[in-house]
Amino acid sequence: MKGATSVKAYYHNDVAVQAWVLQGCGLKLASMQLMHVNNKFTYQGDEDYAGLLTSVDISKPVIALLPGIGAQKDSFMAMLDGDLPEIAMGGQCNSPFECEFCSFCQPDDLPELKFHRF
Ligand code: SF4
Repeated sequence: MKGATSVKAYYHNDVAVQAWVLQGCGLKLASMQLMHVNNKFTYQGDEDYAGLLTSVDISKPVIALLPGIGAQKDSFMAMLDGDLPEIAMGGQCNSPFECEFCSFCQPDDLPELKFHRF
């Protein structure tokens, strides 16, 4: 389930990781579907929300990604075993999403920001 109104390509990788974990636990998956908000839905009242969410079968692209997930997992585990990478803050911190570690990575010696109203 995503709080979006369409399937973004990068959701495929999210679902592939989840599918890889579930398959590793021994579950057989009949399909991989992603549910998102239906932007054509119009609330008619009476607490009837049928149709608010819609589901899209993304099994094909997800299955194509599954073989690479194990290799990614190995590289992530190796990264977690290592030292913190020395990477300066930059555009990657806000795009495509704001990183949750900005306060951790923010240097302590930055001058305090002052905002002025015009
Ligand atoms: S804030 Fe996030 S994206 Fe930016 S350098 Fe730190 S960990 Fe990387």
